[in-house]
Amino acid sequence: MKLRGGFMGKKEGNTYHRFGEILVRKNATNVRAVDEALAVQKAEIKEGKTPRKIGKILAERKLLDRLTIREILQEQKLLRGTSRKFSIDLRDEGGIALLSLKGRLDSKTGEALTRVLEKLMNRGFARIAIDATKLAFLGSRGISCFISYIDESRARGGDVKFYGLSAEASLTIQQLGLHRFIQVFEEKQPTVAAFDLPIDEYMSRGALGEYIATSKSRLFHLSYCETAQKTKEEDRLYFESKWHARDSGKKACQKCKP
Ligand SMILES: [Zn+2]
Repeated sequence: MKLRGGFMGKKEGNTYHRFGEILVRKNATNVRAVDEALAVQKAEIKEGKTPRKIGKILAERKLLDRLTIREILQEQKLLRGTSRKFSIDLRDEGGIALLSLKGRLDSKTGEALTRVLEKLMNRGFARIAIDATKLAFLGSRGISCFISYIDESRARGGDVKFYGLSAEASLTIQQLGLHRFIQVFEEKQPTVAAFDLPIDEYMSRGALGEYIATSKSRLFHLSYCETAQKTKEEDRLYFESKWHARDSGKKACQKCKP
């Protein structure tokens, strides 16, 4: 799949998302069924006919229901930016503000998000979890809405953590270099649990990093410590936080000071 755009300042939403790609990603049908439908399309073009749409072919073969087709067409619109639907569902989960985002988050719809984040900060919420499982599109301008709030919440001992991002949204975050700064999880449970530790536990020299120890030594290091680099890969133990390292009985290296 080709991906374009996504960088700060560039125009968003130019990526062309094909029906078949979304279908397979949503697990609505299998790759073979899509390939077969594409072959039918090709054959129709060859015969000089106007080809039927992939969704129609799959529906006729009972491989896809109408509701799914409607959902995919809607997602296509959100990805292309011809639809700008965006909604936020806000819940308090034991002191953590859980924001479930739905639709398309870009420079325009970001304004609604900024208002909610502003309100949360004013109400003293420093722990914010972002559920992105229903977010069809996350552009670089959309992500930038979070940045100042991440800083502010961390200054107050909390954080803004994410889960359920699509592969494309994760890629956008990586392209912006924000994966070293934003904590992202697959699911809700580990996201919520991660708030138990202050963000400093996860950060090494200002970036989210791994901590390394070996089974043979009693010390743990920053992943790029010289001593850690000299250790053999097969002896290495990795820790997601300083707390996890200390909990396993390791002490901080005096050279790299994790
Ligand atoms: Zn070290």
